[in-house]
Amino acid sequence: MEFIPYSRQNLSEDDVAAVVSVLRSEYLTQGPVVPAFEAAFADLHQVPHAVAVANATAGLHIACLALGVGPGKRVWTSPNSFLASANCALHCGAFVDFVDIDPQTRNMSVERLAAKLELARKAGTLPHTVIPVDFSGLPCDLQPIRELADSYGFRILEDASHATGASYHGKPVGSQYADASVFSFHAVKIVTTAEGGLITTRDPELAHKLRLLRSHGMTRTPGDMERASEGEWYYEQIALGYNYRITEVQAALGLSQLGRLSSMHEQRKRLAERYDRLLGLLPLILPCRQPDRDSAWHLYAVEIDDQRTSATRDAVFAAMRAARIGVNVHYIPIHTQPYYERLGFKTDDFPASVRYFRRALSIPLFPQLSHPDQDRVVEVLGNSLQVQAR
Ligand SMILES: *Cc1c(COP(=O)(O)O)cnc(C)c1O
Repeated sequence: MEFIPYSRQNLSEDDVAAVVSVLRSEYLTQGPVVPAFEAAFADLHQVPHAVAVANATAGLHIACLALGVGPGKRVWTSPNSFLASANCALHCGAFVDFVDIDPQTRNMSVERLAAKLELARKAGTLPHTVIPVDFSGLPCDLQPIRELADSYGFRILEDASHATGASYHGKPVGSQYADASVFSFHAVKIVTTAEGGLITTRDPELAHKLRLLRSHGMTRTPGDMERASEGEWYYEQIALGYNYRITEVQAALGLSQLGRLSSMHEQRKRLAERYDRLLGLLPLILPCRQPDRDSAWHLYAVEIDDQRTSATRDAVFAAMRAARIGVNVHYIPIHTQPYYERLGFKTDDFPASVRYFRRALSIPLFPQLSHPDQDRVVEVLGNSLQVQAR
């Protein structure tokens, strides 16, 4: 029986040719393809500025810095996310805290955010920046979060790592409400550059800062310099930055992949709808639908409904792995990690995230997943839940 992974990159011959053509060209770094990739991404996401970086972790880091996160500041994010959503704040010397999830969307709960902000206002501990995460590709409810940001005065950095191509209130993710949105092009994500990331923003000054920070804080543009240029060789460092650049090779892969974004999204969507139909009678809680947003379907994550089955998540996980089906668990709540426990967080600080995690299972979803393979996933899942699949 062939192994079915939970996610798999989707590469075409055109993708391969695009990469090979860069390898045969003059530039491997800082040539014409990175700006072409940024322009294509910005265009597809209807946003004026896109800054490509080495990976989304680097993107979150410099986006925090560019927004002004620093020592003594507070950053709040969702516990149901990958480690990088919280680590970025610690890298800036800020304090991290979390806002528990809405069990239905599995994204940061807007009600809990509002309640926590009110307490923080009284205590004088308001956050500088909030990082909502579009878990599984389902966009966060950013409109009410924007209203809260305007009244409490915090910045919104959206972790859209799962959400390339998703939309909210009829517009692409990354184009409205957030101050900046960060996307990931890791191999398991919607669009891949092997490793890579990108930040979108509507704010030209923020985009300018991000470009500086991704490349040592250095400029060769006379208009940006503090002193007069001394010649064509002249460059200046005007901020403290990093080498967080993406390469031409990676950008070529990304640019080629973007050409298939809408067809790959359509395939994911159809497979997700097929899962909805095939899994409807099992003791599972399926991913929720929201009429005002369209998920990118990075993950198809189910919850084992322990009210309706005695099978545990761990038993189902083991049975599926034994049947060579690459299920996974997203995510171990960040605040329960040993490192975060040492910062003082307790497991039951964010109970909805913990309850979700204990029952969560991500099952295979990627554009080229075949119907027979999908049927096999459904059958094994049904059997391991000790009920008939269909
Ligand atoms: C993948 C991911 C990241 C990190 O992305 P990289 O490109 O691997 O650095 C950050 N946040 C979330 C939610 C992710 O899924």
